[in-house]
Amino acid sequence: MNIQHIAVIGAGTMGRGIAEVAAVSGLQTSIIEINPAQRDQAANQMRLSIEKGIRRGKVAAASVDEVFQRLQFAGEIAAASSADFVIEAVSEQESLKTRILQELDRVCRPEVILATNTSSISITRLGAATNRPAQVVGMHFFNPVPIMAPVEIVRGWKTSDATLETTRDLATRLGKQPGVVGDSPGFVVNRVLMPLINEAIFALHEGVADAQAIDSLTKLGLNHPMGPLQLADLVGLDVCLSILRVLHAELGDPKFRPCPLLVKMVDAGQLGRKTGQGFYKY
Ligand code: NAD
Repeated sequence: MNIQHIAVIGAGTMGRGIAEVAAVSGLQTSIIEINPAQRDQAANQMRLSIEKGIRRGKVAAASVDEVFQRLQFAGEIAAASSADFVIEAVSEQESLKTRILQELDRVCRPEVILATNTSSISITRLGAATNRPAQVVGMHFFNPVPIMAPVEIVRGWKTSDATLETTRDLATRLGKQPGVVGDSPGFVVNRVLMPLINEAIFALHEGVADAQAIDSLTKLGLNHPMGPLQLADLVGLDVCLSILRVLHAELGDPKFRPCPLLVKMVDAGQLGRKTGQGFYKY
């Protein structure tokens, strides 16, 4: 399929990043966001990010306006009706995502692929809620989207080979490095990462070492760019806890049991960088 126009649903942290890389890569991009304040904030942030990209020679465009000519902002799902490919990036609630995918199923041409950026909801279940399960696929980007290279392309039970191939090609066109994974809780990256973060929190909880020592030793020992507690603060402790809970509940393996210290910190509203306090003060 010749993809020229994509629609991104939701202009939050992820949607604005996905729309940015789409427009930068030359695609007509509609960004559909229900909240007008989020639309304005997304446009401002995308302008700054594209400007920075141009200055650093990472974005091949003469000006921000050149990229913005390919972007349309809208508030209604109907604006996706002429899109050749749709990426849903609304908040992580299954009922909301199901409703949005059903609306897209009604307004988009029958051959259009509906991709979802969900981190934890079953692609198979989301696909089954539509009349086109073969064209429903996961497209799990990483934050911040303009910088992070990987995309997990998630195959639902009924996702077709053609859908996977088109989605993989699109990710490559957006400058990303896709990998195909099965529809399993946490996919690959979060399944590998969250036990590492959780174990670092257990080590702190049990007094094995203080946060600085855990981070600096792990960072150097594993040749990672930052320590696991620093990374947890960056991702958000609430996000880490909710992913661990999904892994624990759906895989049923006690190794995913969230550390009690993580639960306490989230209960106390100490969520990492976004609240100014996590394992470190910001
Ligand atoms: P967010 O809360 O920042 O943004 C969600 C946006 O969706 C909000 O702007 C909200 O107003 C909008 N929205 C809600 N209902 C809508 C509707 N009916 N129509 C249009 N827009 C609507 O969330 P986020 O962090 O960008 O996450 C989006 C998705 O990406 C989630 O599924 C999340 O699990 C996934 N994800 C997030 C990250 C991350 O690091 N934040 C990483 C990978 C995947």
